[in-house]
Amino acid sequence: VASQLNSSGLLRTQGLIGGKWSDAYDGKTIKVYNPATGESIVDVACMGGRETNDAISAAYDAYGSWSKTTAAERSKFLRKWYDLLMVHKEELAQLITLEQGKPLKESVGEINYGAGFIEFAAEEAKRIYGDIIPAPLSDRRLFVLKQPVGVVGAITPWNFPLAMITRKVGPALACGCTVVIKPSELTPLTALAAAELSIQAGIPPGVVNVVMGNAPDIGDALLASPQVRKITFTGSTAVGKKLMAGSAETVKKVSLELGGNAPCIVFDDADLDVAVKGTLAAKFRNSGQTCVCANRIIVQEGIYEKFANALRDTVQNMKVGDGFSEGVAQGPLINEAAVKKVESLIHDATSKGAKVILGGKRHSLGFTFYEPTVISDVNSDMRISREEAFGPVAPLLRFKTEEDAIRIANDTNAGLGSYIFTNSIQRSWRVAEALEYGLVGVNEGVISTEVAPFGGFKQSGLGREGSKYGMDEYLEIKYVCLGNM
Ligand code: ADP
Repeated sequence: VASQLNSSGLLRTQGLIGGKWSDAYDGKTIKVYNPATGESIVDVACMGGRETNDAISAAYDAYGSWSKTTAAERSKFLRKWYDLLMVHKEELAQLITLEQGKPLKESVGEINYGAGFIEFAAEEAKRIYGDIIPAPLSDRRLFVLKQPVGVVGAITPWNFPLAMITRKVGPALACGCTVVIKPSELTPLTALAAAELSIQAGIPPGVVNVVMGNAPDIGDALLASPQVRKITFTGSTAVGKKLMAGSAETVKKVSLELGGNAPCIVFDDADLDVAVKGTLAAKFRNSGQTCVCANRIIVQEGIYEKFANALRDTVQNMKVGDGFSEGVAQGPLINEAAVKKVESLIHDATSKGAKVILGGKRHSLGFTFYEPTVISDVNSDMRISREEAFGPVAPLLRFKTEEDAIRIANDTNAGLGSYIFTNSIQRSWRVAEALEYGLVGVNEGVISTEVAPFGGFKQSGLGREGSKYGMDEYLEIKYVCLGNM
């Protein structure tokens, strides 16, 4: 796969600074691994503060002219970039499976989803309207202008190597901002391929820059620079909090997509098939490694046994294996640390009374493969109910009344994705309104799309990505008063 990608020019191993591919200044590299085999794919540049400062300068220089392009021009560039992402869909999908591990079919899905943010941004670029406000005095006119915030630092995780970047960079560029991207060191290759396609799309040098390597050094350089006016981050709550605190010094705008602890509530009046299918999708997509993956499956007592049995039977049929193999539904976890986390959560739960009804151990394929797991009799005191498992484990909790379900669901500091399964219209409205979550899927397990706002309540983050609301994150509002007319 790697050599095929190399011949199409999409396998990049250097950072991108001001339109030039660049090694780390001290020549350092780090390896990128295939999580399914543990083999290293390539060595990539391992950059730090110096390269980041140069990338910021390049982005700042490019900002002067990029922010003055017309909306129609930016729209055309973005559309071209989208077209190229779609032309190279197959190769990019392979790259995602190679460095991240998800089944190829899911990787193709990520390209469609991820490229969708660029297409949407291309369209939305033309609709960044200001306002005229009726003046309180007759000799004045009041206007509202929307202007780009400036240079954006975008820090992204490994679980969606393309989509987490496009959902930030698309709207940023559409609004007239320039960006310094820091992809995850675990999955930089997709980001670099996307950046290469941005060059092929004609997006001017310095508008899109990529640095990767020493995350804290790169992060510190982005935070310290007064030229960086905005930090947009997806990743762990702990790092998000650091970035938010670090942004205070220069009062940067901040958007954060942090950890979730998604409840998936199955009511007695749910359609069993819909609930099982929806839960399966909400839980096991990307082997449970998404921030909106169902983390607690909260099931009403009347349907509990039936649901648990049906879920176990369905999960049992999922094929585990290398993401490149035909028919595989569950790939490897990202690394050994991820497997250990899952093991320790299951150990904690079973030591406190939970029962493994399927899986519960490493897969016979070994390495980072874990058996898709269902555990029952879970309660809110177990770590698995309080921490994100980020793995293929479905913990079942039991509840009696609708009030109980809402209380259990909201009993967490997180507030990103949530799901409810019920056939009652009244109940779906009541519960959707009561859930302290940024996203609610009613009788659906996968609801993310570039046309709808994605983001969290409470400690799951700040701001929204996707949709018209996602544009506001990259815009300043300016009030202009024309007086003495
Ligand atoms: P995950 O558990 O998803 O890997 P992290 O928050 O550790 O979540 O990583 C998300 C992104 O944040 C990655 O690109 C990672 O390199 C980056 N990161 C980690 N630590 C820092 C830091 N101190 N400053 C800036 N970025 C960081």
